[in-house]
Amino acid sequence: MSSPPAIPEIPTVTIGRDKANTVVLNHATISRTHARLIVCSPTSFILEDSDSKHGTFFADVNQRKVQLARKLVDLEDEIWLAEHKFRVEELLPDTGKSPAESRFPKKNPLDFTEEFALLRKVYDDYPQLRKDCRNREKMIRLWSVVGGSVIGIGTVATAGSLGFLAMLSSAGLSILIPTLSSHLLSTDEKLELLEKEYRQHYRCPNTICREPFGNREYEMLERQKKCHRCKAVWVE
Ligand SMILES: [Zn+2]
Repeated sequence: MSSPPAIPEIPTVTIGRDKANTVVLNHATISRTHARLIVCSPTSFILEDSDSKHGTFFADVNQRKVQLARKLVDLEDEIWLAEHKFRVEELLPDTGKSPAESRFPKKNPLDFTEEFALLRKVYDDYPQLRKDCRNREKMIRLWSVVGGSVIGIGTVATAGSLGFLAMLSSAGLSILIPTLSSHLLSTDEKLELLEKEYRQHYRCPNTICREPFGNREYEMLERQKKCHRCKAVWVE
């Protein structure tokens, strides 16, 4: 007898104070793991409380707060996590920062550890792609490997979550592979494009600084831990 086909996992968005959540809400009344949204369709979600200390609530027909354990909700529904009111759509990840997250800014505004960690991939991708972009067949094979994972990130974003920029930074420079496989560009143009993208991304992640890292090794910057110029924290 053949086994039944595997059922794919439904994407979920976890919400809480802990850094491991999809959406991190840094507030004392939000539990470490507060709630989660099970993505049923781009507009329908099961909202489930994760035994939070201060509870998860929805508004009944009389606009009264009612505590919930689990409830089918819509993008536009209003809910409360502890005393904080949100629309469900605000709790979906977008460009790496959900609108809800920006309501509770990070404790340390100079904490760029997550953004800095993503630069490792940019640094590692660059020399490899420079070498491989001369070989079109190899590029096409590469795309079939990493392309799937990049596209995978896009499809989890069923509700229009994860913006293009976040996708680009988590994918490093591999997002350029289709362009680097194209015969519309000469090898010189591909090398020029790669260098331009590398220089644009391999910088201090603090938007008010953006000091270019040039050819400095990622490992060396990691040991440096902080930006000398703007004091941004890269590694804790
Ligand atoms: Zn800086």
